[in-house]
Amino acid sequence: MEDLSKTMQQLMNQRHLNDNYRQLMDKVYADPQVIQFYHEHQAELAADVMTRSAAKLYEFVSEREKLAKGGVTFATGYEPQLLVSNHLIDVAYVPTVETQEKQAQQALRQRVKSIAMPKNIRDASLTEFDQDADRAEALMAVLDFKDAYEASPKRRHQALYLAGSFGVGKTYLLAALANELATDGFSSTLVHFPSFAVEMKNSIAKNGVADKLDALKNAPVLMIDDIGADAMSAWVRDDILGVILEYRMQEELPTFFSSNFSMQQLETEHLRISTRGDDEPLKAQRLMQRIRFLAREITMVGVNRRPQ
Ligand code: ADP
Ligand code: MG
Repeated sequence: MEDLSKTMQQLMNQRHLNDNYRQLMDKVYADPQVIQFYHEHQAELAADVMTRSAAKLYEFVSEREKLAKGGVTFATGYEPQLLVSNHLIDVAYVPTVETQEKQAQQALRQRVKSIAMPKNIRDASLTEFDQDADRAEALMAVLDFKDAYEASPKRRHQALYLAGSFGVGKTYLLAALANELATDGFSSTLVHFPSFAVEMKNSIAKNGVADKLDALKNAPVLMIDDIGADAMSAWVRDDILGVILEYRMQEELPTFFSSNFSMQQLETEHLRISTRGDDEPLKAQRLMQRIRFLAREITMVGVNRRPQ
């Protein structure tokens, strides 16, 4: 192996370069990464590469040192890397390991869209879901869905309607599924339905209804949380919920629900009676047919896990 810095020394002597520059470049030419790169790529490099690419080599070493010292670098979150370009050496900036991890984390987060959901759903995880006997059925059903959906996301998969009292973990389980799907590359949207309904009413004046509606109609996997928690106007029931469900049924898009009501109760105690007090059994029935087509009812029982 030839002594690279000696060669460089000679080259620089020949060129009568000043001391300052020589000192600077001595360090660059003695840099183990520079030497290693040179030896690995010597065959592809021009004979006088070390002088012609001096500026790039200097940039590489100085930016790398700035980064190591935690200083401000040329491009934050990126580190310099040597590469061969046209028989010379050039510097490229590639994301650091931390940047790559951050980017992956961001991509993951973006796969779970949430509308008016509590922040802590981010931490929900299927592996941490307690498998007590009371909730095993729901967990198994969720895992079955995950496997079937991931194996063939284009096919129709019936989702779940999680019924159960306040605090048993319905929202947690849906969020855990959404996070799990995100890890495997699939997007879903979780929506707190009562808040969404209010948002839709407020959007009428701003002409924003159609866009918000489209987002839910087209979500690859939709989770409608807490349906039935607040009284629904006939408009929300028929023109919002009804339209979303009709579309998702036609397109066979997975749609989950969670509710404090059973399906039976939702129909007779909630959907049938509009906020104006009208009794509309047929409309309730039509809506329930769509819900039943989209989801299978599972009753979750257990203790209230909410901090009291
Ligand atoms: P529900 O939607 O049925 O009313 P939640 O999903 O909101 O109930 O759960 C109630 C509380 O218990 C929440 O604070 C949630 O984070 C927590 N929780 C539910 N299931 C679990 C679990 N398996 N592990 C840890 N916390 C849980
Ligand atoms: Mg809930």
